[in-house]
Amino acid sequence: MSTPNLIVTPSATMLSDAQRAEKMSNLSFGRTFTDHMVVIPYRDGAWQQGEVKAYGPLSLDPSTSSLHYGQSIFEGFKAFSQADGGVKTFRPQANGERFNRSAKRLAMPALPVELFMEAADTLISLDHPWVPENIGESLYLRPFMIATDPYLGVRPSLEYLFVLIASPAGAYFPKGVKPVTVWISEDYVRAAPGGTGEAKCAGNYAASLLAQEQAQQKGCDQVVWLDAVHREYIEEMGGMNLFFVYQENGKTTIVTPELTGTLLPGITRRSLLELAKDLGYESEERKLSVQQWRDDIAAGRMTEVFACGTAAVITPVGEVKANGFEMSINKGENGPVTMALRDALLAIQHGTAPDTHNWMHTVV
Ligand SMILES: *Cc1c(COP(=O)(O)O)cnc(C)c1O
Repeated sequence: MSTPNLIVTPSATMLSDAQRAEKMSNLSFGRTFTDHMVVIPYRDGAWQQGEVKAYGPLSLDPSTSSLHYGQSIFEGFKAFSQADGGVKTFRPQANGERFNRSAKRLAMPALPVELFMEAADTLISLDHPWVPENIGESLYLRPFMIATDPYLGVRPSLEYLFVLIASPAGAYFPKGVKPVTVWISEDYVRAAPGGTGEAKCAGNYAASLLAQEQAQQKGCDQVVWLDAVHREYIEEMGGMNLFFVYQENGKTTIVTPELTGTLLPGITRRSLLELAKDLGYESEERKLSVQQWRDDIAAGRMTEVFACGTAAVITPVGEVKANGFEMSINKGENGPVTMALRDALLAIQHGTAPDTHNWMHTVV
């Protein structure tokens, strides 16, 4: 099943059906990988012949530039089993386009979106038995690109490696959806104007880990980031975008912080803004301060808060803590608007509701 751009060499050490079933019987996130991976090198100003081969270690020179200077980007999207045995991916083209925007910000070469899609389709088809079948489960695709020049000088690398790996993922909330507690970080920021907040680059995550650790020390699950300039406006939660649900005069409005250049433009975020209309909700993208958040919860105008992203889909926020205050949202329970949006999105992804927005891409 090689394609013009990708030579497929099936793994010689593929797991048996029984071994795979054993690995897939207790899925978590990001620890189990399929039999194959895609590798496409870039050199001499062009993408070279790509390969699909056995999943395994990469061999890198210790001077490999991405290891030193972090010229490294990634994406994340999912493939879902359909009732007819087929497999579809959710908005892979949007991920391919965002991958290239990240590449541009990190001075890396663009990968043609068709090649990005072809890499995913080929890998998923070959590792089809690794796509879990239950609702809430999926095959998580992780494309990434690293600078591979064996050179310690600081400049954009001349050589790169695009790699795609896949990991079967269990239900994010195996015991049912449960709201998280968040810590508003005043000591750390994730992204500043002119920085890399809009790009899905490895360094953003490295810089977030200490804040996440602090949130946990404060008894919270996740960190909420404020804008770097005023330290006032809400940006994101960990690696997810945030939504605030308002109920006023019989009208439901979902509000998400506007994209200022320091927020990561989530594809789940974008999808929920569209899905809101289908469910009869209004939607708004605007700035929201911590003070406004507190006032609107206190006034009862804001009734729910949730975070969204590919990995967890939608996570309700039940409690907010910061230096000097603490408040609970919707009594710390899952809210109806949050759950309606979550169910609607999952139904489209698993094919139990019509895909009226043409988000799903048929793989097999
Ligand atoms: C990936 C990511 C998101 C969510 O994006 P999706 O496309 O919805 O998965 C949100 N915030 C950050 C910081 C991210 O890295």
